[in-house]
Amino acid sequence: MYFDSHVHLNSEQLYKDRDLFIANALENGVANMLVVGYDMESSKLAVELANSYEFLYAAVAIGPNDCNETTMEDMHVLEKYLDDPKVVAIGETGLDYYWDHVAASKQKEVFQWHIDMAKKHNMPLSIHCRDAYEDTYSMLKQASHFGVMHCYSGSAQMAQRFVDIGFKISLAGTVTFKNARVPKEVAGHIQIENLLIETDCPYLTPHPFRGKLNEPANVIYVAKEIAKIKNLEIEDVGSITEFNAKKLFGIK
Ligand SMILES: [Zn+2]
Repeated sequence: MYFDSHVHLNSEQLYKDRDLFIANALENGVANMLVVGYDMESSKLAVELANSYEFLYAAVAIGPNDCNETTMEDMHVLEKYLDDPKVVAIGETGLDYYWDHVAASKQKEVFQWHIDMAKKHNMPLSIHCRDAYEDTYSMLKQASHFGVMHCYSGSAQMAQRFVDIGFKISLAGTVTFKNARVPKEVAGHIQIENLLIETDCPYLTPHPFRGKLNEPANVIYVAKEIAKIKNLEIEDVGSITEFNAKKLFGIK
């Protein structure tokens, strides 16, 4: 079985036809999915979805691209969701210097609020990091907490540094792309015990479906590529990464 550790069934693109995407996922052995929030609305929807389907779990947060107006009031609303047993992580949160419509100082302030909340409630963080590896690393090292680097796209050496401070590495469809030398190196270098798999759907559709809308069922193509690189059976990549995800998110 497979655990898709990062889906956006709460997104506009997938929500409407969610029953179809969920049916496809279950049919392909994708038995559990973490629905991840990125703003107030999507976090609320993630919690609702997790309470509507037993195999769905939720993460709540305001991501770095949506945090321009974020206040402490918003954080208090998010914090209330953590009482819900289906809410198993805080994410996605982090730093994104690829887009520049939110100042780095504001991103860091809101990221730190999420880190503090994760520590207070002893919950894992699901980290979004783009073109901001050193700053993300130093804030997480300082925090001395745990979680997962979602859709990891940095170097193998940097990935190891995150593992060394308590973070799992989650690989997405990018690892399947023909020219994806660096993600394939990460898959080869990081021990399977420290890997999770995800689709980040509706984005990052894996080969051979690039260009189409992504959905949770496609996480098997991520597992297939990792199996090829590590010379393992795809079922073993599925069950080990499922075990890793359940352990990280505290799911029995
Ligand atoms: Zn995401």
